[in-house]
Amino acid sequence: MYHSKLYSCKQVDQSIFQIKFQGGSTIDNKLSSEINDNTRIMSAPIPLFSKIHTIQVNCNKIMFCDCYFFESVGMFCAHMVCVCKFVANTNNEVFTGFTHRDIVNRWTSSYMQLVFKLSTPKHIQKYYDTLVSNDIKGLML
Ligand SMILES: [Zn+2]
Repeated sequence: MYHSKLYSCKQVDQSIFQIKFQGGSTIDNKLSSEINDNTRIMSAPIPLFSKIHTIQVNCNKIMFCDCYFFESVGMFCAHMVCVCKFVANTNNEVFTGFTHRDIVNRWTSSYMQLVFKLSTPKHIQKYYDTLVSNDIKGLML
């Protein structure tokens, strides 16, 4: 949740949000002084990049970020937190964070504790296999 402070959110469409990296001011000041102190760099063309991620919300209110952190790791990314804070702030609410239901089942402690033990009954292992194979596709906004 801390990293979400480094981003700003803008709603560009009804279901599309753009998250722009604002960066830390100390890094920017250090970089700008390094550029200003070096005359060779000043004469060279420097491409300017901005880190912008896009989050789309589908008809079921599930968020999909183009960083694909949720799809690869199974946890929310800072961009999703930024959108949730933005939407809550727009509705005069306070975003308090995600719950244990907002991560994939393989990260739950009961899954880690029970599935890999040989002493766990087969029907419980099968139950967890079903849960993991039908996991959440993303976070609800
Ligand atoms: Zn993301």
